[in-house]
Amino acid sequence: MSLPILSIILPCLNEEDVLSATNQRLQALLCDLSSDGLISNNSYLVFVDDGSTDSTWKIIQDLAIESQSERKPLHDVKGIRLSRNFGFQNALLAGLESVADRCDIAITIDADLQDDISSIREMIELYIAGNDIIFGIRNDRNSDSKFKRESARLYYQMLHHLGVNTISNHADFRLLSNRVIKDLLLYDERNLFLRGLVAELGYQQAKVYYTRQRREAGASKFPLRKMLNFAIDGITSFSVRPVRMIFFVGLAFLLTAIGIFLYVIIRHMHGHTIEGWTSLMLSIWFCSGTILMALGVIGEYIGKIYTEVKHRPLYSIREKI
Ligand code: UDP
Ligand code: MG
Repeated sequence: MSLPILSIILPCLNEEDVLSATNQRLQALLCDLSSDGLISNNSYLVFVDDGSTDSTWKIIQDLAIESQSERKPLHDVKGIRLSRNFGFQNALLAGLESVADRCDIAITIDADLQDDISSIREMIELYIAGNDIIFGIRNDRNSDSKFKRESARLYYQMLHHLGVNTISNHADFRLLSNRVIKDLLLYDERNLFLRGLVAELGYQQAKVYYTRQRREAGASKFPLRKMLNFAIDGITSFSVRPVRMIFFVGLAFLLTAIGIFLYVIIRHMHGHTIEGWTSLMLSIWFCSGTILMALGVIGEYIGKIYTEVKHRPLYSIREKI
C-alpha cells in the first residue's frame, strides 16, 4: 500500500499574527511524519481564508510561493480565499471539498493551533489501524474561561437530551478518510453543524485525547453572538424535539383545564366569584391548550418538511465485496 497523502485544512479569519508560526510548526511535523514513513511526501497544507480583512491572504500567498522554492524541502502550501466571511463551518467545508479528490486523509484544525498538533501522529496511526474518523477530544478546558467551560458542558448535555448525536468536548479537530469526506459532501444542507454530521456518518470511529493550549497570538474570532447562533444551529439542524414539546405543553394545559374546570365550578356554586370570572378562566385554559396543541400538530408537519428538504442521503455504503 502506498503511503497516504495527508492534507491539513486550516480555516483562517484575520490570523496574520499566527500564520507563519503555524506554517512552521506544521511543516516540521509533516517532515517528521513523512520521514518516519507514516505519510506521503506529497502531503500538504490548505489555508482557507474566510474573508479576512487583514494581511492573512497576503501571508498565505507568500507561504504558498515559499513552499515551491527549490532550496527548502517544504511540503506544498495551498490557499483558498472565500469571497467574504462565510463562517467557520463553511470555510471547513470549502477546504474539504477542495481536497476530496486529492488526498487520502484530511485533518481539520484551527489556524491558531490551540489544539495539540502532536496528536496528529496518533491520529494517523489510528487511521492506519483501520479507523475512518478520528475525533480530537479536549482533556480539560482549563485554557477556556469558566463561563465558556460551563456553558459548553450544559449545552452538550442539552444536545444529548434532545437526541443529537455529538461527541462531548470535541470541536473541529478531526481526521477524516477520503471516503468519509466524499460521504459528507453528499449532505446538502445550508445550516452546517459538522461535528454533529460527522458523528452520524458511521464507519469505524476513534478518539484521541489532548490538552488544549492557550491562543498564542491574535484574539478569538468567536464573540458570544456567533457562539449562540452556532449553538442554535446545532440543535435545530438535528432535532425536531423542541417542536414536539409544544404539543405536550398544550396537552398539559388542557389537562390543567380539567382541574380548573372543577375548581371554578365549585367556586361558582358557592357563589365565591364575581361575574364573568368562571367563563373567563375556563376559556383561557381551554383555548390556550387547544391553540398550543394545534401549533404542535402543525409543527410536527413542518418538522417533516424540514427533514425532507435537507435531502440527507438515506444510507451510505461502507464497502462491497
Ligand atoms: N474562523 C473562521 N471564520 C470565522 C471565525 C473563525 O475561519 O468566521 C477560524 C479562526 O481563524 C480559527 C478557527 O476558526 O482558525 C477557530 O476560531 P477561534 O480560535 O477564534 O475560536 P476559539 O478557539 O476561540 O473557540
Ligand atoms: Mg482558537
